[in-house]
Order: sequence, then C-alpha cells, then structure tokens
Amino acid sequence: MSGSIAPRVEQVRERIAAAASDAGRDPGEVTLVAVAKTFGADAVVEAAEAGVSDIGESRVQELTDKAAVVGDRVRWHFVGHLQTNKVKAVVGVAGLIHSLDRLPLAERISARAQASGLSQRVLVQVNVAGEDSKHGVAPEEAPALAEQAAALPGLEVAGLMTIPPAATDPRVHFAALRELRDRLTKVLPGATELSMGMSADFEVAVAEGATLVRVGEAIFGPR
Ligand SMILES: *Cc1c(COP(=O)(O)O)cnc(C)c1O
Repeated sequence: MSGSIAPRVEQVRERIAAAASDAGRDPGEVTLVAVAKTFGADAVVEAAEAGVSDIGESRVQELTDKAAVVGDRVRWHFVGHLQTNKVKAVVGVAGLIHSLDRLPLAERISARAQASGLSQRVLVQVNVAGEDSKHGVAPEEAPALAEQAAALPGLEVAGLMTIPPAATDPRVHFAALRELRDRLTKVLPGATELSMGMSADFEVAVAEGATLVRVGEAIFGPR
C-alpha cells in the first residue's frame, strides 16, 4: 500500500488534464478532492506529499480524527450526509461542506459559524434523478434552498454538488447540474462551483464542467 498513492495521484491528474483539454477547458479550473474515507491519516499524509491539496471525508469522526493529526497542510472537505447534531464538529474544520440539503441544516451551520466568528462555505447537494435512496434536494427546489441559505449570516453558498444514480449514464445528470448552476449564478453570482464526478466517472464530469472532482478508490485503492 505505502508508496502506491503518488503514482495514482499522477495518473488521476493526467486523466483530469486530458479530459479538460479535450473539452477546451483549463485543467487549473478543476480541483482534485481526494476522498480518504476508511483510510488512515498516514494515507492522507502520503497523498499530501504527492501534491494533493484537498482531502474529502464522508464521516464526521474520520474528518475530526484525521484533521487533528494532519492539520491544515491540506484543505478538508466534508462530502457525506451531515446530521444536524454533528454540525459543531464540522464547521470551521471543513473549508467546504458539499452536502447542504435542507434549511434547518443551513440554519444550524449559520448559527455555529457565527458563534465561531467565521464564514462557512457550503454546496447545495442536488438529488438529480429524484432517487428515494439518496440525500439531496430536488432540482426544482435547489434554487430556493440556495437563496435561503445564502441569506443566512456566516454561510456562503459556493455552488452545487451531486452524486448521480449508479448504473446510468452520468453525463445527462452532470449536464443537468451544470445547467442548474448556470441559472443559479444569475441570482447568486458566487455560486460557481460544481462538485461532481468520482473514480468511475470523473472524466465525464470534467467534460461537463466539474470544478471539484471527488476521487477515492482511484487514488487510495479499493475500500
Ligand atoms: C466515497 C465518496 C466519493 C469517492 O468515491 P470513489 O468511487 O471511491 O471515487 C465521492 N463522493 C462521495 C460523496 C463519497 O461518499
């Protein structure tokens, strides 16, 4: 395991660069978020040494444990479902929370950020295909949630995130999220980020405009 992360990071970077240039995009517009869930702080350090600047976690305990060890040599992203009672542990540790999906959660994040004297960046998670099993707000409800959240103090809505349904062509869903973002930026000009694409489909996501790709297994190996 040790020593295998750097070459994988290099390969993923090359694939992002190729997908971006095929799409006529600057690869510098795409941030690689290496999702380290189930892997330890040692793996995060190895990724950081390979040049990874952004680490994603989907469980609060893992985020706080690894952030306590690795510190701010990387930027931390929270990409998993966030329970309201866990907000306190995440605000200020994660520079970007990808999973805002309901107004009470926005209100709790806002209150916590204000109490800490900081501004918390968030993405609105969109359930693009309306799957019962997935978190995220329906596409037609996303603009209202984004605007209501953006009006709260201490909260900065930076864009949208999605996890497309498994076993379907993700392209149509990525394109739909991009169109939703394009409409949203007319009212929230700062909401430009598009968090989409994982190990199986990050090149398609880059082609469709992703600014953040969340890549786990292709970097850290199988879970
Ligand atoms: C685990 C996870 C990823 C990374 O998935 P891989 O298939 O390992 O690349 C991305 N986003 C979220 C929300 C995740 O939970």
